[in-house]
Amino acid sequence: MRRFRKVRHVPLPLLAVIMAAILFAELARCEREGAKETAAEAEKSVPRRAALTFDDGPNACYTPEVLEILKENEIPATFFLQGQCLAGNEEIVRRMHAEGHLIGNHTFHHVQLTKVSEEEAREEVVKTSNAIYEITGEYPVYIRPPFGEWREGLDLAVTMIPVLWDVDSRDWESQNTASICSVVLPNVKDGSIILMHDGYRATVEALRRIVKELKEEGYTFVTVRELIEE
Ligand SMILES: [Zn+2]
Repeated sequence: MRRFRKVRHVPLPLLAVIMAAILFAELARCEREGAKETAAEAEKSVPRRAALTFDDGPNACYTPEVLEILKENEIPATFFLQGQCLAGNEEIVRRMHAEGHLIGNHTFHHVQLTKVSEEEAREEVVKTSNAIYEITGEYPVYIRPPFGEWREGLDLAVTMIPVLWDVDSRDWESQNTASICSVVLPNVKDGSIILMHDGYRATVEALRRIVKELKEEGYTFVTVRELIEE
Protein backbone atom coordinates (compact mmCIF):
# COMPACT_ATOMS: atom_id res chain seq x y z
CA MET A 1 0.00 0.00 0.00
CA ARG A 2 1.34 3.44 -0.92
CA ARG A 3 1.81 5.71 1.98
CA PHE A 4 1.10 9.36 1.60
CA ARG A 5 3.11 11.72 3.67
CA LYS A 6 0.90 14.08 5.41
CA VAL A 7 1.34 17.60 4.02
CA ARG A 8 1.39 20.24 6.67
CA HIS A 9 -0.49 23.30 5.68
CA VAL A 10 0.56 26.72 6.96
CA PRO A 11 -2.54 28.24 8.52
CA LEU A 12 -4.00 30.83 6.16
CA PRO A 13 -3.84 33.87 8.50
CA LEU A 14 -0.14 33.20 9.14
CA LEU A 15 0.49 32.91 5.39
CA ALA A 16 -1.23 36.25 4.85
CA VAL A 17 0.98 37.88 7.49
CA ILE A 18 4.17 36.46 5.89
CA MET A 19 3.09 37.61 2.42
CA ALA A 20 2.30 41.09 3.71
CA ALA A 21 5.69 41.33 5.44
CA ILE A 22 7.51 40.34 2.22
CA LEU A 23 5.49 42.86 0.24
CA PHE A 24 6.22 45.68 2.69
CA ALA A 25 9.94 44.85 2.75
CA GLU A 26 10.04 44.94 -1.04
CA LEU A 27 8.16 48.24 -1.17
CA ALA A 28 10.56 49.79 1.34
CA ARG A 29 13.55 48.55 -0.67
CA CYS A 30 12.17 50.07 -3.89
CA GLU A 31 11.61 53.35 -2.09
CA ARG A 32 15.19 53.37 -0.80
CA GLU A 33 16.57 52.59 -4.28
CA GLY A 34 14.38 55.31 -5.73
CA ALA A 35 15.63 57.82 -3.18
CA LYS A 36 19.24 56.86 -3.99
CA GLU A 37 18.64 57.34 -7.71
CA THR A 38 16.96 60.69 -7.12
CA ALA A 39 19.93 61.86 -5.01
CA ALA A 40 22.36 60.82 -7.76
CA GLU A 41 20.24 62.56 -10.38
CA ALA A 42 20.00 65.70 -8.22
CA GLU A 43 23.79 65.73 -7.81
CA LYS A 44 24.19 65.58 -11.60
CA SER A 45 21.76 68.42 -12.14
CA VAL A 46 23.68 70.82 -9.83
CA PRO A 47 25.74 72.85 -12.28
CA ARG A 48 29.41 72.11 -11.70
CA ARG A 49 32.25 73.59 -13.68
CA ALA A 50 35.89 72.74 -14.21
CA ALA A 51 38.69 74.27 -16.28
CA LEU A 52 41.19 72.16 -18.19
CA THR A 53 44.56 73.90 -18.47
CA PHE A 54 47.55 72.82 -20.56
CA ASP A 55 51.06 74.14 -19.87
CA ASP A 56 54.36 74.19 -21.76
CA GLY A 57 53.02 74.07 -25.33
CA PRO A 58 52.43 74.44 -28.11
CA ASN A 59 53.68 70.99 -29.05
CA ALA A 60 53.71 70.19 -32.77
CA CYS A 61 52.76 66.58 -32.16
CA TYR A 62 50.27 66.52 -29.27
CA THR A 63 48.64 69.95 -29.17
CA PRO A 64 46.68 69.30 -32.41
CA GLU A 65 45.41 66.03 -30.90
CA VAL A 66 44.30 67.83 -27.74
CA LEU A 67 42.55 70.44 -29.88
CA GLU A 68 40.80 67.67 -31.81
CA ILE A 69 39.41 66.08 -28.62
CA LEU A 70 38.24 69.46 -27.34
CA LYS A 71 36.56 70.15 -30.68
CA GLU A 72 34.81 66.76 -30.76
CA ASN A 73 33.45 67.47 -27.29
CA GLU A 74 32.73 71.15 -27.98
CA ILE A 75 34.56 72.31 -24.87
CA PRO A 76 36.95 75.20 -24.30
CA ALA A 77 40.26 74.96 -22.46
CA THR A 78 43.12 77.24 -21.44
CA PHE A 79 46.65 76.91 -22.87
CA PHE A 80 49.62 78.55 -21.14
CA LEU A 81 52.25 78.84 -23.84
CA GLN A 82 56.02 79.09 -23.67
CA GLY A 83 57.42 81.83 -25.87
CA GLN A 84 60.28 79.61 -27.03
CA CYS A 85 57.83 77.03 -28.44
CA LEU A 86 55.89 79.46 -30.63
CA ALA A 87 58.19 79.66 -33.69
CA GLY A 88 57.07 77.06 -36.22
CA ASN A 89 53.82 76.37 -34.35
CA GLU A 90 51.98 79.57 -35.26
CA GLU A 91 49.27 77.68 -37.14
CA ILE A 92 48.45 75.63 -34.03
CA VAL A 93 48.19 78.81 -31.94
CA ARG A 94 45.94 80.46 -34.52
CA ARG A 95 43.69 77.39 -34.43
CA MET A 96 43.59 77.49 -30.61
CA HIS A 97 42.54 81.10 -30.74
CA ALA A 98 40.03 80.62 -33.57
CA GLU A 99 38.39 77.68 -31.76
CA GLY A 100 37.65 79.75 -28.68
CA HIS A 101 40.34 78.57 -26.27
CA LEU A 102 41.94 80.97 -23.85
CA ILE A 103 45.65 81.57 -24.39
CA GLY A 104 47.86 82.49 -21.47
CA ASN A 105 51.53 83.19 -20.83
CA HIS A 106 53.97 80.62 -19.37
CA THR A 107 57.15 82.75 -19.77
CA PHE A 108 59.56 82.57 -22.69
CA HIS A 109 62.11 80.04 -21.38
CA HIS A 110 60.07 78.35 -18.62
CA VAL A 111 61.97 80.21 -15.90
CA GLN A 112 61.19 80.23 -12.21
CA LEU A 113 60.31 83.89 -11.86
CA THR A 114 61.48 84.07 -8.26
CA LYS A 115 64.98 82.91 -9.22
CA VAL A 116 65.84 85.53 -11.83
CA SER A 117 66.31 89.29 -11.56
CA GLU A 118 63.23 91.50 -11.68
CA GLU A 119 64.33 92.81 -15.06
CA GLU A 120 64.72 89.29 -16.44
CA ALA A 121 61.38 88.20 -15.01
CA ARG A 122 59.64 91.14 -16.66
CA GLU A 123 61.42 90.41 -19.94
CA GLU A 124 60.35 86.73 -19.86
CA VAL A 125 56.73 87.72 -19.49
CA VAL A 126 56.60 90.70 -21.85
CA LYS A 127 58.48 88.92 -24.66
CA THR A 128 56.03 86.01 -24.51
CA SER A 129 52.95 88.23 -24.45
CA ASN A 130 54.28 90.14 -27.47
CA ALA A 131 54.97 86.91 -29.37
CA ILE A 132 51.42 85.65 -28.65
CA TYR A 133 49.99 89.01 -29.76
CA GLU A 134 51.93 88.76 -33.03
CA ILE A 135 50.10 85.52 -33.80
CA THR A 136 46.62 86.04 -32.39
CA GLY A 137 46.22 89.82 -32.35
CA GLU A 138 45.33 89.61 -28.66
CA TYR A 139 47.51 90.14 -25.59
CA PRO A 140 47.18 87.43 -22.97
CA VAL A 141 45.78 88.55 -19.62
CA TYR A 142 46.55 85.44 -17.57
CA ILE A 143 49.88 83.92 -16.68
CA ARG A 144 50.74 80.54 -15.21
CA PRO A 145 54.09 80.99 -13.51
CA PRO A 146 56.35 77.96 -14.13
CA PHE A 147 56.58 75.73 -11.02
CA GLY A 148 53.67 77.68 -9.56
CA GLU A 149 56.12 80.32 -8.31
CA TRP A 150 54.76 83.80 -8.83
CA ARG A 151 57.05 86.72 -8.09
CA GLU A 152 55.52 89.07 -5.56
CA GLY A 153 54.74 92.44 -7.12
CA LEU A 154 55.42 91.35 -10.72
CA ASP A 155 51.73 91.73 -11.55
CA LEU A 156 52.18 95.47 -11.01
CA ALA A 157 55.04 95.58 -13.55
CA VAL A 158 53.40 93.43 -16.22
CA THR A 159 49.69 93.79 -15.36
CA MET A 160 48.94 90.09 -15.66
CA ILE A 161 46.82 87.84 -13.50
CA PRO A 162 48.60 84.74 -12.18
CA VAL A 163 46.59 81.50 -12.33
CA LEU A 164 47.54 78.44 -10.31
CA TRP A 165 45.58 75.16 -10.01
CA ASP A 166 43.99 72.84 -7.46
CA VAL A 167 44.17 69.51 -9.32
CA ASP A 168 47.64 68.46 -10.51
CA SER A 169 47.64 65.58 -13.00
CA ARG A 170 51.43 65.10 -12.58
CA ASP A 171 51.30 63.82 -16.16
CA TRP A 172 54.90 64.87 -16.84
CA GLU A 173 55.97 62.61 -13.99
CA SER A 174 53.93 59.45 -14.57
CA GLN A 175 53.36 59.73 -18.34
CA ASN A 176 50.80 57.01 -17.69
CA THR A 177 47.16 57.31 -18.71
CA ALA A 178 45.69 55.26 -15.84
CA SER A 179 47.77 57.13 -13.28
CA ILE A 180 46.77 60.54 -14.67
CA CYS A 181 43.06 59.60 -14.54
CA SER A 182 43.33 58.23 -11.01
CA VAL A 183 45.04 61.40 -9.78
CA VAL A 184 42.63 63.77 -11.52
CA LEU A 185 39.14 62.24 -11.46
CA PRO A 186 38.59 61.74 -7.69
CA ASN A 187 39.89 65.22 -6.89
CA VAL A 188 37.85 67.41 -9.24
CA LYS A 189 35.18 69.53 -7.59
CA ASP A 190 33.05 72.48 -8.65
CA GLY A 191 35.40 75.31 -9.69
CA SER A 192 38.48 73.09 -10.12
CA ILE A 193 41.40 74.15 -12.29
CA ILE A 194 43.09 71.02 -13.65
CA LEU A 195 46.78 71.19 -14.57
CA MET A 196 47.95 69.08 -17.52
CA HIS A 197 50.67 69.35 -20.19
CA ASP A 198 49.99 68.95 -23.92
CA GLY A 199 53.35 67.29 -24.45
CA TYR A 200 52.67 63.61 -23.78
CA ARG A 201 50.84 60.73 -25.47
CA ALA A 202 49.50 59.61 -22.06
CA THR A 203 47.96 63.05 -21.47
CA VAL A 204 46.07 62.91 -24.77
CA GLU A 205 44.64 59.48 -23.90
CA ALA A 206 43.81 60.53 -20.34
CA LEU A 207 42.07 63.65 -21.62
CA ARG A 208 39.55 61.53 -23.54
CA ARG A 209 38.59 59.63 -20.38
CA ILE A 210 38.64 62.66 -18.08
CA VAL A 211 36.32 64.62 -20.37
CA LYS A 212 33.96 61.67 -20.81
CA GLU A 213 33.71 60.85 -17.10
CA LEU A 214 33.38 64.43 -15.88
CA LYS A 215 30.68 65.06 -18.48
CA GLU A 216 28.83 62.00 -17.19
CA GLU A 217 29.12 63.44 -13.67
CA GLY A 218 27.40 66.58 -14.94
CA TYR A 219 30.42 68.89 -15.29
CA THR A 220 30.63 71.60 -17.90
CA PHE A 221 34.02 72.88 -19.00
CA VAL A 222 34.99 76.53 -19.02
CA THR A 223 38.18 78.55 -19.43
CA VAL A 224 39.90 79.93 -16.33
CA ARG A 225 38.51 83.37 -17.21
CA GLU A 226 34.98 82.21 -16.37
CA LEU A 227 36.09 80.74 -13.04
CA ILE A 228 38.20 83.72 -12.00
CA GLU A 229 35.99 86.57 -13.11
CA GLU A 230 32.79 85.42 -11.41
ZN1 LIG B 1 55.47 74.51 -17.16
